[in-house]
Amino acid sequence: MNHDTDVPEGRDFLELVWRQEDECQTETDALLPNLGKKAPATMVHVGTVMSLLDRMASCWWVCRGGDHRIEYLCGRAFNNARAAVRLLRFGCYDESLALSRAIGETANLMQLFTVDRSALDEWRDATDQKVRHDFSPYKVRKRLEKLSHAPVITQERYALLSTRATHVGPHTVPQSHNVLGIPFSRSQPQAEGILVCVNELAGPLSAVAGLGAVLLGLDKDTRSRILNCARTLAVNIGGAAITTIDEFHQTLRD
Ligand SMILES: [Zn+2]
Repeated sequence: MNHDTDVPEGRDFLELVWRQEDECQTETDALLPNLGKKAPATMVHVGTVMSLLDRMASCWWVCRGGDHRIEYLCGRAFNNARAAVRLLRFGCYDESLALSRAIGETANLMQLFTVDRSALDEWRDATDQKVRHDFSPYKVRKRLEKLSHAPVITQERYALLSTRATHVGPHTVPQSHNVLGIPFSRSQPQAEGILVCVNELAGPLSAVAGLGAVLLGLDKDTRSRILNCARTLAVNIGGAAITTIDEFHQTLRD
């Protein structure tokens, strides 16, 4: 029989959790460079694109003045990305994916603004209620499709990320990123979790950087540089993804 007196509580419990997270982070940093060729390279490109996004968010090259709405979107995506990277190193894969899903929402919104500049003006002046109604992730995807543009983050990817990482349901299994579908509550490195999180972050991050470079109206050389780095990141993304991992596990079990 377990005795509750053996289990740390209060500050002691928090420090136990933080120690486990620190260990998981150290192990993940040692593991990642050995997870094939693409994932380590993707992580390096993630760092470069995050650096560019940080500069886009903080008027590094030029301050356009005005309401800074696009800069703030870049800043939100940058902060989401910082946290997504930290969480994947802590073994919090579901939570990292939830943030990449949020970056994807920003990516689709910015994509809409690049193909329909009037949508940016409409959004800029919108009440909270109108934003919820007319610029929900679903509505943004529909507006893009109506303009004959495939959303950067497809309905399929968004739904999978929502089910896996955001909304709880009867099939929710926390931190289950392994072929056996085993859940974890403590921080534990899982190679497939790392790969899926790196790749699911890289996609929307590259999109936000590229679209942001266009929307910010940066000078031609800076814009080209950002677009090139975003493209390099996008083309280096590996095959492990939220759209493929379940099928991959199923083929291993069959
Ligand atoms: Zn500024």
